[in-house]
Amino acid sequence: MFTSINPATGETVGTYHELDADGIEMALARAEAAFRAWRDSPLEKRTELLGRIADAWEANKRHLAETATKEMGKTLASAVAEVEKCIAGFRHYAKNGPGYLEPATVRTAGGGHAVARWLPMGPVLAVMPWNFPYWQVVRFLAPTIMAGNVGLLKHASNVQGCAALIQQMMSAAGAPDGLFQNLPIKSDKVSAIIADRRVVAVTLTGSEGAGAQVAQAAGRALKKVVLELGGSDPLIVMPSADIDLAAKTAVTARVQNAGQSCICAKRMIVHAEVYDAFLDRFEAGMKAVKIGDPMEGDTGMGPLSSAAQRDAVLEQVARARAEGATLRFGAEKLAREGAWMTPGVLTDMDPESDVAKEEIFGPVAAVYKVKDIDAAIALANDVPYGLGSSAWTNDDAEIERFARDIQSGMTAINSLLASTPEAPFGGVKLSGHGRELGPWGMHEFMNLKAVMFG
Ligand code: NDP
Repeated sequence: MFTSINPATGETVGTYHELDADGIEMALARAEAAFRAWRDSPLEKRTELLGRIADAWEANKRHLAETATKEMGKTLASAVAEVEKCIAGFRHYAKNGPGYLEPATVRTAGGGHAVARWLPMGPVLAVMPWNFPYWQVVRFLAPTIMAGNVGLLKHASNVQGCAALIQQMMSAAGAPDGLFQNLPIKSDKVSAIIADRRVVAVTLTGSEGAGAQVAQAAGRALKKVVLELGGSDPLIVMPSADIDLAAKTAVTARVQNAGQSCICAKRMIVHAEVYDAFLDRFEAGMKAVKIGDPMEGDTGMGPLSSAAQRDAVLEQVARARAEGATLRFGAEKLAREGAWMTPGVLTDMDPESDVAKEEIFGPVAAVYKVKDIDAAIALANDVPYGLGSSAWTNDDAEIERFARDIQSGMTAINSLLASTPEAPFGGVKLSGHGRELGPWGMHEFMNLKAVMFG
């Protein structure tokens, strides 16, 4: 059984049966059969289905959002925004998918030509986390449907209600049987599914530990894997920046989703000339975050996703302090039922300390002072991760340096970094490999076949 616990109250909000071995076998057989038909489906059939799925999500927006809030604590407003992003994701592939699948023709030596065609590959397994329980799945699912592949989902144990709803939306939209299947399974069942001949590839979003396990299983079976793992994103502020806006955005970045986003800024790296001005504003913003019932419209931050996640963050803060950091305020457990804590700010972190190299998956920021752009970039890159980053400056030469030299999959300039269906999303270093979204995400799990004409 899976039990979903509302992290705002500690109450059980749902229980779900685990799929047994026979159920897994049936799902794999159904996926194989569904692929045989779907791989040959006309593109209009795929785009029409994506449109109907978007409509089903639109019609059930409130229910979907409330379920996410109850299972993992994000504010209802942000859950609604997440559902809307999913709708946009389905519509994006409905509109642009056929263009992404256009074949390309190249001339070959000797006067012939080759046509490079995108062909589907088969059932793809997605192992997904709880932090954006819909969007993480949709950014895999929408391109999967468009590509002519079929999807299998192993969702995080604490958001099985969201997983079941994703399945329901597919049925409501009239998706063919087996095109998408939610597998309510524990992680110990994943390796065998990856090894199964009917599954062609796997994508995972989550921790490095889970990523390494899944990558090993995929490697043993010589199957392709896309990994979207953690990040410890830098947000760099230079003297020419709009300091008010940078500080305001840094607060949003650090406390959105109660700090549990792979691409929220976690390390604020500030030029000495504007350090005091930034820190004053940033601290004021972090102190002003309204903590409360995530169902209420004016709540800025709800609980963390679970007491265990909250305690892991508090343990990191305690370790940071033991390693010499100053806790300026916050990062306190609240004395009430549920997974509550306050936002906090750390300074004087030793960049070489253990915690400074880790991802803090909760609403606690580390603020660093640097003397120039070289020091900013060096510090930004001085972690094992390389997912997102953002830089605040109005100097074109500095923008070019950040775009070129920050080791990350994404750099936002003077804006909040967020994924969007049009742009590639993914990381380097321990943040993983491969890309999601846009044509790039869809092509990850396709066979680019060269059809040669002499
Ligand atoms: P996990 O990486 O453990 O979970 C993500 C998904 O992987 C879940 O579906 C989980 O299933 C599954 N999983 C876990 N271990 C394995 C395994 N050995 N083989 C196959 N599947 C596995 O994330 P946590 O929830 O434990 O969060 C811990 C840390 O992960 C966070 O502190 C954060 O650093 C990172 N994280 C990053 C996210 C991101 O967006 N990049 C999102 C969430 C977490 P199950 O729930 O059943 O364990």
